[in-house]
Amino acid sequence: MQEINTGNIITQPLNWPGFDERKIKAAMLRLDLIHPLVSGNKWFKLRYYLEEALTAGKKKLITFGGAWSNHIIATAAACRLYGLSSTGIIRGEKPDHPSTVLLTASSLGMELIFTDRQSFASGKIPGITDQPDQYLVPAGGFGEPGARGAGTILEYCHPLSQYTHICCAAGTGTMMAGLINNSLPAQHIIGISVLKNNHSLEASIKSLLKENKTNYHLSHHYHFGGYAKQNEALIGFMNNWYRHNGIPTDFVYTGKLCYAVSDLAGQGFFPAGSNILIIHSGGLTGNSSLKNGTLIF
Ligand SMILES: *Cc1c(COP(=O)(O)O)cnc(C)c1O
Repeated sequence: MQEINTGNIITQPLNWPGFDERKIKAAMLRLDLIHPLVSGNKWFKLRYYLEEALTAGKKKLITFGGAWSNHIIATAAACRLYGLSSTGIIRGEKPDHPSTVLLTASSLGMELIFTDRQSFASGKIPGITDQPDQYLVPAGGFGEPGARGAGTILEYCHPLSQYTHICCAAGTGTMMAGLINNSLPAQHIIGISVLKNNHSLEASIKSLLKENKTNYHLSHHYHFGGYAKQNEALIGFMNNWYRHNGIPTDFVYTGKLCYAVSDLAGQGFFPAGSNILIIHSGGLTGNSSLKNGTLIF
């Protein structure tokens, strides 16, 4: 299998009329280019968990996710690359028609165990999650090592100090916490929540912050009806973004993020002269659940 290649990461200047009108400069950090499956932020969130598992001499990684989870696919692929075996605890019953995520994860050698929502939420399944030879990674890579890994994303921005705002999508908030931890005091980290009414997100992020930082802002206005929900406005925007920049986005995370940044710019959220970095956190495999022809890329 293809290796993870952080050498592919580029900072791509964006061409978007709405930014020009507001005298804003913007660029996208293309983490989607590091690997087709361990895409974007997922490798950054996993890297220290993988290291710890190997250092501790564990043979297997076990983690949690939904049937459409990018984290599951990334963990399966990363374990394959690192020579670890893997188990994915999947929320809900075994579906009659497995998703691309589940098919890909199994083809990468991940053992899949389907579980009810309650056991899933508890993060513990007796006889499965308590085996001594395995290393447990929380759902979405949420936790201190996940945030620490995500913080290293900013090592790919040269120089980091040129950016006034760093914008990212937020699911569990692990990536955003890492970015806040490693940001410069004058920078603003803007997180776009992709879940509807996820008001525990701020507390989750705070629990991962190293210092009492306040240079961040969360928006709950761009979920488009909820996690993995979409509409014509979002799909039209993603196609238009591709026409202008040649950058594909996914409808679960980065499409909503770019839509939000564009919309916030239109509202005057970013002062003239701002220099925005938008994190392309990957996730493009998720578009496979859309009907063929929906997207132009
Ligand atoms: C998982 C994921 C996120 C969310 O990351 P969190 O650390 O859980 O907030 C953002 N973008 C993409 C593409 C993802 O796959």
